Amino acid sequence: MICKQSKEGCVVLNIKILLHTCCGPCGVAFTGGIIKEGFAPVLLWHNPNIHPFTEYKSRRGAALDFAALYQLPMEADDFYGLRKFVGDVAADGDRRARCAYCYHARLAHTAKYAAQNGYTAFSTTLLASPYQDFEAICKFGRELAEMYGCEFVIRDFREGFRAAMDEARKMGLYMQKYCGCIFSEEERYRKFF
Ligand code: SF4
Repeated sequence: MICKQSKEGCVVLNIKILLHTCCGPCGVAFTGGIIKEGFAPVLLWHNPNIHPFTEYKSRRGAALDFAALYQLPMEADDFYGLRKFVGDVAADGDRRARCAYCYHARLAHTAKYAAQNGYTAFSTTLLASPYQDFEAICKFGRELAEMYGCEFVIRDFREGFRAAMDEARKMGLYMQKYCGCIFSEEERYRKFF
């Protein structure tokens, strides 16, 4: 990593990084942190794991709102991936396997896009969420970095997640109530019925 020394330690010199963005709150938690370090993130929206369609649109809208508020460029596809996602994970209802597929699919798309479009680094705002499997995300990120020759930037901003949620609320961003896939929606609400 290219960096210069300052009183605060190592400051990254304007590295263009492709940052996979999953939602507004995680975006606030992660993006603010890496900007302070000197990264210049370009956001990437690619989340075929978010269902149903209205929820997908709300979260995509929140990511776009977040990008506009932070004045950051964003690459945003508009692929609602319910059918492929369900088809790919249906054989294995186990949550660990499902989430592993989910992390890997999104990170693989990000790493490939980064390598093909001149980025030297990539990462994901998923790392900022205490609800996600930090170690699994890091493992996949490192493997994909090796495969695509593009650095995977790991930062742990989970301590600041609650404050970031408050900030996102103040900014008027959409706040989701469950992780994302149609299975997690059932897990979130089943206890009420
Ligand atoms: S629970 Fe969350 S991380 Fe796991 S598969 Fe569903 S959307 Fe992906």
